[in-house]
Amino acid sequence: MKAVLKTGLGIGVEVLDVPYPKLTSTSVIMKTIACGICGADLEVYQGRLSKLAKLPMIMGHEVSGEIVEAGDGVTDFTAGDRVVIQPFTGMCGKCYYCKTGQAWSCPSRRMIGGMAEYVSVPNENLYLIPENMKPEEAPLCEPFAVALHALHAASFNILETAVVLGPGPVGLMTLMALRAAGAGLVVVTGTGKDVSPRLELATKIGADATVNIEEANAVNVVKTLTKGLGVDVVFDTTGSQKAGPQGMQMLKTKGRMIVIGHYPEDMALADPSYKGYSITGNVSYDWDTWERLMPYLERRHVDFEQFITHRLPLDEADKGFQLATSRKSVKVVLLP
Ligand SMILES: [Zn+2]
Ligand SMILES: [Zn+2]
Repeated sequence: MKAVLKTGLGIGVEVLDVPYPKLTSTSVIMKTIACGICGADLEVYQGRLSKLAKLPMIMGHEVSGEIVEAGDGVTDFTAGDRVVIQPFTGMCGKCYYCKTGQAWSCPSRRMIGGMAEYVSVPNENLYLIPENMKPEEAPLCEPFAVALHALHAASFNILETAVVLGPGPVGLMTLMALRAAGAGLVVVTGTGKDVSPRLELATKIGADATVNIEEANAVNVVKTLTKGLGVDVVFDTTGSQKAGPQGMQMLKTKGRMIVIGHYPEDMALADPSYKGYSITGNVSYDWDTWERLMPYLERRHVDFEQFITHRLPLDEADKGFQLATSRKSVKVVLLP
């Protein structure tokens, strides 16, 4: 079967023929319907490998599909079910984190590779796609879970004010979550490349203001909009060396900064002592996020389709990664 792989350091991915995945008694084989390209995938594409990456690896973790085979021990799902996955797996059960109820920090955890025609998925990682959602848009549940977890990490309260740095899919979904959470003011920032379609979409989704940081001083804009105070929470989705320190200048005294994007490892952060603000890293999500999110999506239609700007076959994965890098897209999905 075909799969999109990262085989070595350097830029790029390859579409290769790999063995059909193995079925176990507690897993299913899923025929992939759609797999999104995520910012984390872009880092791998560009050769910035995380500690979790072991080469060669199948790319992609935002994935939906239809079950074609289910192991003997799988009781909740059967062939024909259309599912979306929570992609983290491989928690060891033996380390300090696993033993103390923090399996989400287990160093053995890894992500299921979804850019393949078929994927083996453990039973516990499966969620049925809600009836009101197209299987093609279901991969967007994953970045939405990241956004919701970020609001949790911020203990975000109704009518608080916020800035979202970076209008990529996670930034836009954070904006959507902030609107649902009753935010008082939301400002979204981006670069010149982000103006169309990303900042335009931010306005459509409900940003009170958007800032192209190449044309205006974003700190000044935020200060003006908040009568000099700054905002309660900044969500940094950029992973940029410049954006982080700027974001801190947008905070009120005792404001909270939630870091979602991955900063370079050697980046120095500003001293928070003089304003008493806090910086919290947001590590993806946890089971709690997914267990709350999926029933919610059954009851409420959330428009994920508006984020999908490009649909490509698996063979054109490289083109998809280039589109995502160029920011001419919002979300690129691969359809095997
Ligand atoms: Zn993702
Ligand atoms: Zn462990």
